[in-house]
Amino acid sequence: MKRIGVLGGMSWESSVEYERIMNTAVRERLGGTHSADLIVRSYDFARVETLQETGDWEALGELLAADARALEAAGAELLVIATNTMHVLAPQVQAATTIPLVHIADATGDAVRAAGLDTVALLGTRYTMEMGFYRDRLAEAGIAVLIPDEPDRTLIHDVIYDELVRGIISPESRAEYVRIIADLKVRGAQGVIAGCTEIELLVGPDDAGIPLFPTARLHALAAVGAALAT
Ligand code: GLU
Repeated sequence: MKRIGVLGGMSWESSVEYERIMNTAVRERLGGTHSADLIVRSYDFARVETLQETGDWEALGELLAADARALEAAGAELLVIATNTMHVLAPQVQAATTIPLVHIADATGDAVRAAGLDTVALLGTRYTMEMGFYRDRLAEAGIAVLIPDEPDRTLIHDVIYDELVRGIISPESRAEYVRIIADLKVRGAQGVIAGCTEIELLVGPDDAGIPLFPTARLHALAAVGAALAT
């Protein structure tokens, strides 16, 4: 089993789920007392959020690249960036190391294709929905992506930063997400990507009304698959 280096804490509300899912999957695969072999770099998310808000992606890229190098030096054989948004920096992180990066959009796209779908809605932070780094990767895999219109994009984004990363799960916000998913279904979405790793803490498969793709779960399982591949 390969050692997985995790760039996490973005936020820790979802990173702890990554750990739970990876450890559970390794136990299921290997049995006994086996668990995932991990090195976790968990950030103070307030620092990350501030740099995102000021658009200082260069500083964030330098931060993640330096820590990716540190994880490799500490023995990591695979890398996971445990957030969708920060995959905007995946090229910088990959370029900083010689070990493979398990990309969250690839894990998600594989699941969408395996479900036989080609048009899905994407909910996530404003960065993930609008910047293109995520949608373009899905488009390369033959998947068309729909995003909400305004003001719903702002609502989705604000719930992530004002509630979900702070551990607040609100039934009112869940109802708003469900309404937005229903609108996107009318626009042609066959499924919906929970494209922020905290969204699956708020919205479950039974809420969505169409197939839901939980990116933290799919990414964590893809990482374990890579760690156990022979
Ligand atoms: N965890 C979130 C994501 O998957 C948002 C927090 C972040 O900006 O990293 O995009």
